[in-house]
Amino acid sequence: MGEAFDAIIVGGGHNGQILSAYLRKAGLETLVLEKRTEPGGGLCTEEVTIPGFYHNLHAFFLRWIPDLPWFKDLDLARYGVRMIMPDVQTVLPFGDGKSLVFHRDDERTIKSISYFSKKDANQYRGLLKRFRRMNDLIITPETYAPPISFEEKRALLEKSALGRDYLDFSEQTPVALAKELFESEQMRAMLIFLVTTKMFLHDEPGLGYSVPSAIAGALKGSMCRGGSHTLAHGISAFVEAQGGRIQEASHVREITVEGGRAVGVALDDGRTIRARRLVASSVDVPQTFLGMVGEDKLDPGFIEKVKAYKFSKWGLFGVHLALNESINYKASAFDPDVNTGLNYNVGLECLEDLETHMKEIAEGIPPTKPGMQCAQPTLHDPLQAPSGKHTAFLWQFAPYHLKDGGAAAWDRVKEEYLEVCLTRWREYTTNLTRRNIVASYLFTPLDVERKLINMRSGDHCVGRASRDQMLENRPFPGSSPYRTPIEGLYLCGSSTHPFGNITGAPGYNAAKTICEDLGMDPWWRPPDLKAAWSRLH
Ligand SMILES: Cc1cc2nc3c(=O)[nH]c(=O)nc-3n(C[C@H](O)[C@H](O)[C@H](O)COP(=O)(O)OP(=O)(O)OC[C@H]3O[C@@H](n4cnc5c(N)ncnc54)[C@H](O)[C@@H]3O)c2cc1C
Repeated sequence: MGEAFDAIIVGGGHNGQILSAYLRKAGLETLVLEKRTEPGGGLCTEEVTIPGFYHNLHAFFLRWIPDLPWFKDLDLARYGVRMIMPDVQTVLPFGDGKSLVFHRDDERTIKSISYFSKKDANQYRGLLKRFRRMNDLIITPETYAPPISFEEKRALLEKSALGRDYLDFSEQTPVALAKELFESEQMRAMLIFLVTTKMFLHDEPGLGYSVPSAIAGALKGSMCRGGSHTLAHGISAFVEAQGGRIQEASHVREITVEGGRAVGVALDDGRTIRARRLVASSVDVPQTFLGMVGEDKLDPGFIEKVKAYKFSKWGLFGVHLALNESINYKASAFDPDVNTGLNYNVGLECLEDLETHMKEIAEGIPPTKPGMQCAQPTLHDPLQAPSGKHTAFLWQFAPYHLKDGGAAAWDRVKEEYLEVCLTRWREYTTNLTRRNIVASYLFTPLDVERKLINMRSGDHCVGRASRDQMLENRPFPGSSPYRTPIEGLYLCGSSTHPFGNITGAPGYNAAKTICEDLGMDPWWRPPDLKAAWSRLH
């Protein structure tokens, strides 16, 4: 083997880089190996339409970021990362010209809800306080700590009223909660949009905890100035300032195991690199174990679990637009704030709409009456387009495998489906005309997988959000968080607790576990979950 490092991290998405940042500052010599020519994974911004128009092909909505422990520990503001948190957070325009608008200002949100239901407005006011406490004292601490067993969790949480409340909520499905909590279809649709766009399954028991976190988080949406990739570059700048190495265009093919221990990696280009202390994989479970480690190094029971690991059956069909002028929503006549939102639910007006989408998706049909997540980044950050011009995008849940022709058929049908989505968007807007659209770029669930090979079947959270694969069960029930059966091999990506999306939690939590195993004192202050939950009342 050629070079040697203390820790080799496979995959340079935000989780891999965050782990590298913590380990490097803890004193280990670290190397991140990234397949693509730019680190960041799902934090990528590219000129895919016309030069000067910057499009965020993956993550755009970045929740809580300035409050997150790694953002503060790595002092990312010092490395040029600037987050923008618009006042108008989420907008749901309706076909009848009205709209429901969530603001950072609670009173304005409550006023908007009250147009549809006074009862829901009062309920929301009461829930906000309760959900914020639940989020701050239970959900966030659990997100930013390695998970504990369900039995231990229940024993700790049952001692307090807030904990019991959380346990009751968690047992339910998000859609049952939406119906129980709110009487208006408008609020139910808003809530379920907030939950499902984070890829939580709407009808899965045990995921009810996604409701308090979606409501609390819906008011903490932000975006990155200059595009999402700027956040990834901030983390890289920290790693490199500490003397850590990041190598792009480095496709890891094999994790070398000797005597049951991970001792290095072999790359596609023939290079081999030795790991003195550990290898950590931030990529998907099947690629890590079946592809890189190899079945001959694993026991049959474990291989069975890896093969049973599930990915989502749907992903996102994306359309990125370069525009001459910003979009005008018809509902802005009802409420002018509609035109200044961060996050838009366009077309998912009631729970039945989502049920119809899911039924079509299960049959391999892209939803015929789209209900999309949309945004116009340049409304809040003019740096993302030439002066006076705009960018916008829509994301529509869509099956990976199409009924006619499987995944490969996306290349054939994508232009046709673009028209279906644009026609739907136009029902809610006045100027999404051919003259306004300078160029478009389509990004299908198949393209998602082509770009980031760990997002199998276009699953951008790298593993289905079903109860048996969440919290202490992620990636497998009974697994020791972030550790693997191979000594010196760790997991640190979205296939581990808590889940995908830009949370940084898998990388952050893996750093704590690794420090523990190596007998190193963390230089940061990882939260003590059990102590925090013991103090609840
Ligand atoms: C269309 C779309 C929209 C999204 N929108 C949002 C959003 O608004 N908000 C949000 O929070 N999240 C969003 N996400 C999800 C988010 O992007 C992911 O969940 C997140 O990027 C996962 O982070 P990660 O670090 O675990 O993995 P990734 O970001 O996937 O990084 C893994 C890295 O590993 C590299 N890699 C894979 N295999 C190898 C190998 N063999 N050798 C070397 N390198 C390898 C990949 O190239 C990649 O760079 C979106 C995703 C998509 C696709």
